[in-house]
Amino acid sequence: MDKRNKSLNTVDSWASENLPISQHKEKLVHAVRVNPFLVVTGETGSGKTTQLPQYLYHAGFGKDGKIGVTQPRRVAAITVAQRVSQEIGCSLGREVGYQVRFDDCSSEDTVIKYMTDGCLLREILADPRLTRYSVVVLDEAHERSLNTDILLGLLKRKVLQPQGGSSGRSTPLKVVVMSATLDTDKLSAFFGHCPVFTIPGRTFPVSERFCGLIGPKDTDSTVYVKEVVKVALDLHTSEMAGDILVFLTGQSEIEKACDMLYEKAEAVDYRYDVRDSSVEGLLILPLYGSMPTDQQRQIFEPPPKGVRKCVVATNIAAMSLTINGIRYIVDSGFVKQLNHNSRVGMDILEVVPISKSEAQQRAGRAGRTSAGKCFRIYSKEFWEKCMPEYMVPEIQRTSLTAVILTLKCLSVHDVIRFPYLDRPEERFILAALKQLYQCDAIDRRGHVTRLGRLMVEFPLAPGLTRALLKAASLGCEDLLLPVAAMLSVENIFIRPGQQEKQQDAETEHRQLIEESGSCNDFAVLLGVFEKCRASDSPSAWCRDHWIHWRALKSAFNVETQLREILLRLKQQRDFPVETFDGSRSELFRRCLCTGYFANVARRSVGRTFCTMDGHGSVVHIHPSSALFEQDQLDWIIFHDVLVTSRVYIRTVCPVRYEWVKDLLPKLHEVDAYELSNVAREEVTDEEVAKWEAKETAKRQAEVSAEDS
Ligand code: ADP
Ligand code: MG
Repeated sequence: MDKRNKSLNTVDSWASENLPISQHKEKLVHAVRVNPFLVVTGETGSGKTTQLPQYLYHAGFGKDGKIGVTQPRRVAAITVAQRVSQEIGCSLGREVGYQVRFDDCSSEDTVIKYMTDGCLLREILADPRLTRYSVVVLDEAHERSLNTDILLGLLKRKVLQPQGGSSGRSTPLKVVVMSATLDTDKLSAFFGHCPVFTIPGRTFPVSERFCGLIGPKDTDSTVYVKEVVKVALDLHTSEMAGDILVFLTGQSEIEKACDMLYEKAEAVDYRYDVRDSSVEGLLILPLYGSMPTDQQRQIFEPPPKGVRKCVVATNIAAMSLTINGIRYIVDSGFVKQLNHNSRVGMDILEVVPISKSEAQQRAGRAGRTSAGKCFRIYSKEFWEKCMPEYMVPEIQRTSLTAVILTLKCLSVHDVIRFPYLDRPEERFILAALKQLYQCDAIDRRGHVTRLGRLMVEFPLAPGLTRALLKAASLGCEDLLLPVAAMLSVENIFIRPGQQEKQQDAETEHRQLIEESGSCNDFAVLLGVFEKCRASDSPSAWCRDHWIHWRALKSAFNVETQLREILLRLKQQRDFPVETFDGSRSELFRRCLCTGYFANVARRSVGRTFCTMDGHGSVVHIHPSSALFEQDQLDWIIFHDVLVTSRVYIRTVCPVRYEWVKDLLPKLHEVDAYELSNVAREEVTDEEVAKWEAKETAKRQAEVSAEDS
């Protein structure tokens, strides 16, 4: 209680009244009241995310349903909910709460619910008319996350075509779409030319400088981390007081940069080195997605007098979160992004140059309360040659498998003609359908199967879900639940920066691999999970073995939640049941094969492998794998891919050809043409029968060829 009061006092009481949005309170509430759809736009920091839901709450919108506010990023949903609960003066989880994957902090009392867009999508599955909501606010629409884009299309349909009296709603659902950028005409047109409410902003000029330390050829992360640190430290000593915001790519780069900055800042002599004599210290704070929430809070607090705050953040600080007092920006020019990699045919987290419009957005963060400066570490040439004008929306660059399954489960059969704000390329939709067909989630006619309906319940990638369900049908889910949980949290193995410690950690990790008794990375994960849970003091166990206790703790939590979902599904009458006669190790690996057979590779030359999915990419086992030094491997399956100068596969498991032999034809069974017909629902029973006959004949021919 004390703690809460203290933070209540530090909620700058001027803040909410002085925000640009506050003068428009009545007009905004009215606009929501009279329009089924409304687009709201305004500069980042104008108060859209934190204030608008409160206005609606105070105007009584929460009386016949919740006010749901979606965020593309999990950290944003949590931090904003914390902030708003403080402003309203309730404890988090009561009137104001949040829900993100594997973490629900909301209750019956919750009226304003911040959540990730993925969570709302899952809720729609259980309650297609969103009867529990009076208003849905799709926030940060400019980020164009895959889930938000799908929600836009779904809500457009739901609200425009209410299904008469059976809808289960007393009042029609209100949809508000909030966006920081000017692309609002497009959004408005999408919703039948709905009104756009613009919150006039006030910004101060930001001077921009290209430091030219990065050119078109520098893409190695060690390069830009070093340069970012150099620029930040230079400006700390040479510029007047004011906080710094550094944009980097991800957790490990941020931690590295913070370590380097810390070391260098120690050496600063404040009597001689700094230009502004009021600056007497540097407070360095990291900010990234998977950070513990108590640590995040510090970011927003003003630094002690005389101390300059330096926040080193991912892109999250560009639009989703606003930190007061920032006067200087250091822009690395890069972002970590999930992209479909056509070379390996999978989605890969890649470091890519940001777009010019994102760079401008980053710079703008320095001009919120006074004039600011932005230091771009890259050259003008890099800007011109490497940075695109606009970012490509996620829906046009990542795998659609999970969302297409969701759409199918929502009875959106024709996924090609679904109202997309920006249409994904047809080949991406086809690839998703193909993958769903391979996982047995849809049938030849594109209809969801019983298995598909079970799969959609899990917030996991389809392959992993398929493996888990296979294990469950064989009664051995205890093998796969921990693995699924471990693959859903951040990396559990600590890799210390210091060389001595690094060796120590490596020895411990090798030991864990040996103890797991098999050369199989999935089994290693299972082993770590089980050993830690069985130990008397799990946190001490983690410390001794160089394992992230925080990550493992969330894995325990995730495992429990996945188990609950599974238990619920297993109570269904028609849950599949199978039997198997064989060793535990074989059982385990066979389940993995069922899920990951599309990620199968066969040894080619030396220690290189070749994938079998038609791409035929050459891949290498990642050095962190238990199988890295194995020479006896023939067939393997893998969980994911890391692309550097080589294509590395991570989390690998050896399998036998006999186990995948029957599954492999499925990789090539259907072609794009057939599936596009499936997608358009133009297939007749006759056609399906014809294909099936053709396939059977083909398979028989193959079998007899093998036999002879
Ligand atoms: P928008 O959504 O328009 O970008 P926000 O509602 O996120 O604007 O932010 C409005 C203001 O609230 C910001 O100027 C920021 O100073 C303040 N604010 C938001 N979140 C926090 C927080 N967690 N802690 C402190 N201040 C915050
Ligand atoms: Mg916002």
